[in-house]
Amino acid sequence: MTTTPPARPAFGTVLADQMSIATYANGAWGADKLTPVAPIPMHPSAHVLHYASTCFEGFKAYRYADDSIHVFRMDRHMARLRQSAKLLMLPVPDEVQLERMILQTIDRNRAQVPEPPGALYMRPVLFGTMPNIGAASQPSNEATLIVLASPVWDYFAGGMKPLRIYVEDQKHRTAEHLGMVKTGGNYAAAMGPTLAAKEKYKIDQVLFCPEGSVQETGAANFLLLREGHILTRSLDSSFLHGVTRDSLLTMARQMGFKVEERVFGVAEMMEWVKTGEAALSGTAAVLAGVGTLVRSDGTDVRVGSGDVGPVTQKLRAALVAIQNGTAPDTFGWTRRV
Ligand SMILES: *Cc1c(COP(=O)(O)O)cnc(C)c1O
Repeated sequence: MTTTPPARPAFGTVLADQMSIATYANGAWGADKLTPVAPIPMHPSAHVLHYASTCFEGFKAYRYADDSIHVFRMDRHMARLRQSAKLLMLPVPDEVQLERMILQTIDRNRAQVPEPPGALYMRPVLFGTMPNIGAASQPSNEATLIVLASPVWDYFAGGMKPLRIYVEDQKHRTAEHLGMVKTGGNYAAAMGPTLAAKEKYKIDQVLFCPEGSVQETGAANFLLLREGHILTRSLDSSFLHGVTRDSLLTMARQMGFKVEERVFGVAEMMEWVKTGEAALSGTAAVLAGVGTLVRSDGTDVRVGSGDVGPVTQKLRAALVAIQNGTAPDTFGWTRRV
């Protein structure tokens, strides 16, 4: 007899019961506390509501076969949140306090960490609460930091089916100097072009290549792959410096791959995908294979065989094995919590 797996809620729609919250005022962070997830009071003139002073993080805690819980590269995500805060002129979360808030949130929601392929997705969010609608060019001197957790299963409903990606060779995803900040406004900026392309070309995501230079999609980094070789854009302020990207490149180098990080254009990408692979990387998707690129003139370009390629599958499996604790973590990326 076959059993049907229970229906899984869509990514991000369900939160674990407890969250941690702290507020910043008068030049200092106040005490953090754990509370049940519930609406928060906020002044209608709060800075974030008018001037988008907000940033967030996303990373995962995994349940191993022995039921212990391990978080993946939490130090990198904490550092990135602090950097985002700094670049947005928001009060920077205290490192020790932020770490405690994350650890306590995981601990309180321990029973809600799913088994693989699920995980507990951690979502710290920081936003400006200074009540002043005249502060368009003034930083918020008050802020709230909340750590949310969400049990997640499959990000891409339909699992590992090859993605259909629209190549936007004109428009920018966001302002050039804010691309490396995980801030709400960037997603707002990408929303219009993404929805328009979805409607017109039935695509899953848009790959932004302003002035023909390949960057990333709305919420994931972009990699070109073939056996023994990876090409991806070198780090600059125009795109998000993914922890998954860094992990995959580090693993590939250790496996003997040539890893090229440099600027490249749409023409070179089109040449690569005649025989090579393309994939999106991020915490939620891990590494998701691209099957088709849709050019701005509406024509489809098949990526390799049109299926998720073998190099993509191999690297994805190797990273997932470290995250789930089924392969040894020789990089020191996982931390038992
Ligand atoms: C979060 C995010 C990524 C992926 O970053 P990871 O650290 O790998 O999860 C890539 N691009 C954008 C725009 C993102 O918001």
